[in-house]
Amino acid sequence: MNNEMKEVIFDNKQLQEKCAEWQRILRLQDWIVDIGISRSRDMNLDNAQAEIVPCLPKRMATVRILDSVDYPPDCAEPQDMELSLVHELLHIHLFPLFADREDEMRLIAEEQAIEAISRGLIYLYRKGGEQNADSNDLRGDGGAEE
Ligand SMILES: [Zn+2]
Repeated sequence: MNNEMKEVIFDNKQLQEKCAEWQRILRLQDWIVDIGISRSRDMNLDNAQAEIVPCLPKRMATVRILDSVDYPPDCAEPQDMELSLVHELLHIHLFPLFADREDEMRLIAEEQAIEAISRGLIYLYRKGGEQNADSNDLRGDGGAEE
């Protein structure tokens, strides 16, 4: 999937708006997500483009997106904050299944699945181009029953 990879950088306000939009698309509206741009030194993970810290009982999560200042210049593709956002939000759907994080292979499988799904979603979302505003409801009218 080599649709043109261009840099997507948001400020905090834009991130919050995108987060609300993607929470709707991904059916996560009942979660309170605190999202913001974070310097690398303020993140729990080393060399991460984003991270999420969930609180499952409260349906709350904190998402940190790496500040573009700290994005590694030698990375294979430009920074895409929207892709990182979608990736982290998808973790919310899978957290209950992976409470036991001792199994490294399961964790890798989870990461690979989320990465593939988030890239597919971003691809479809952007394919709409100028039509996005009208057509970005992924439910469409594909005959899904209410
Ligand atoms: Zn992940």
